Amino acid sequence: MLELRPNCECCDRDLPADSRLALICSFECTFCRDCAEARLGGRCPNCGGELVARPIRPPAKLASFPAGTTRRHRAQPCPAAQES
Ligand SMILES: [Zn+2]
Ligand SMILES: [Zn+2]
Repeated sequence: MLELRPNCECCDRDLPADSRLALICSFECTFCRDCAEARLGGRCPNCGGELVARPIRPPAKLASFPAGTTRRHRAQPCPAAQES
């Protein structure tokens, strides 16, 4: 079961369980779409795996299987956003 982490590991923005902006890798490293696209090139900077859209857990299930609340941050800063 996914932990549904509550924030982006790069910019620390909130990524609630119903957010369409949340992307995860196979280890569930969690990033927002902005960071994934502008800073990470669609790859997890922790493990090198691909980042894909995190599925939305149905609200009725969240009551029994709530989203995680432990905020995570990378030890190393993420790459700066590419100038466009
Ligand atoms: Zn972010
Ligand atoms: Zn990862």
